[in-house]
Amino acid sequence: MMTTAQVSQYLKAKGIRPSAQRIAIMRYLMEHPVHPTAENIYDALMPDMPSLSLTTVYNTLNCLVSSGIGVERLNSDPRNARFDFVDTPHAHMYCRCCGAVMDLPLDAVTFAGMSPDGDFHVEQIELCYRGLCSKCHDKM
Ligand SMILES: [Zn+2]
Ligand SMILES: [Zn+2]
Repeated sequence: MMTTAQVSQYLKAKGIRPSAQRIAIMRYLMEHPVHPTAENIYDALMPDMPSLSLTTVYNTLNCLVSSGIGVERLNSDPRNARFDFVDTPHAHMYCRCCGAVMDLPLDAVTFAGMSPDGDFHVEQIELCYRGLCSKCHDKM
């Protein structure tokens, strides 16, 4: 659980002005590692922030992604962009049936081994396994 003050401090330390929307969305991502869509975030925050619009959520997410502070836009789900706060590199497993995106921990050595060469500065690696989660597979 992060407090508003802690999230605000985190954003400030990264050189980002901690507006109420940025804090709320960043905090949501930190506390809900379920790879939400912008709509999911909007639906969750709107009751407490009636002035929030879906456009603001999109703009704020774009800002957080481009700030390079660990918020990533995932293409795992071909239907919807999903967002993830990544503190340790991991791959994803995407279920094409229920749309769940699950984390798959991979050690840093594996990722380093995937760097194309020693000089390239990797900022994001997106590795996604697509298929069926065990629940959906059992239903088939
Ligand atoms: Zn599934
Ligand atoms: Zn993830």
